[in-house]
Amino acid sequence: MNKNYDIVPNDPNGNKKVVLLTFDDGPKDKDMNAALIKILDKHKAKAIFFLNGYRIKEKPELVKLIHDSGQIIGNHSWDHIDLKKASNEKVDEQLGEVQKIVKELTGEAPQFFRPPFGSGGDYVKSRAKAEQMLYMTWSNGSLDWEMTNKNNDAQKVISNVLGQLHPGSNILMHELPWTVEALDSLLTRLADKGYTFVDPRSIELEMR
Ligand SMILES: [Zn+2]
Repeated sequence: MNKNYDIVPNDPNGNKKVVLLTFDDGPKDKDMNAALIKILDKHKAKAIFFLNGYRIKEKPELVKLIHDSGQIIGNHSWDHIDLKKASNEKVDEQLGEVQKIVKELTGEAPQFFRPPFGSGGDYVKSRAKAEQMLYMTWSNGSLDWEMTNKNNDAQKVISNVLGQLHPGSNILMHELPWTVEALDSLLTRLADKGYTFVDPRSIELEMR
């Protein structure tokens, strides 16, 4: 991963046409998680699910579902607060408690961290590193989070991603119904354009 949070090949001659798929703000709903996993499996794709601690506490079984299906759990802080405005102690707790609960549930602490709202700063970056996580925001926003139950459009999710598509795109999506609806077509379109899906486990945990 480079400083723009794009995924780049370690070998300069390696395949640059890759994307990283990520889903933030879960776990919310079993049917949505199961549907996302099913579509990812169909496309032989792995994604990072950046989860919040307070939601994990409500639905720990979904963390197991995601992990057991071979998808990757990321840390998205406990309360989804703006960490840039939080005290150092609060940051420690927001990151550390998620590490702890995910490790208890799955046996592995997350290796990836994404700050809510993309808002971190130097202390948050150093804490993520201390917790042995790679810090990332994103480089391709689906804007699915701007849509609502009354006003949403799966086709727009697809066109937003394709409109910003570039080699190494770190694609931000969310656990939302219209994103679930969009995903199968989106992944087909990406594959048709010659893109492959990065396995998050192959990402080096040091930034380049
Ligand atoms: Zn979020």
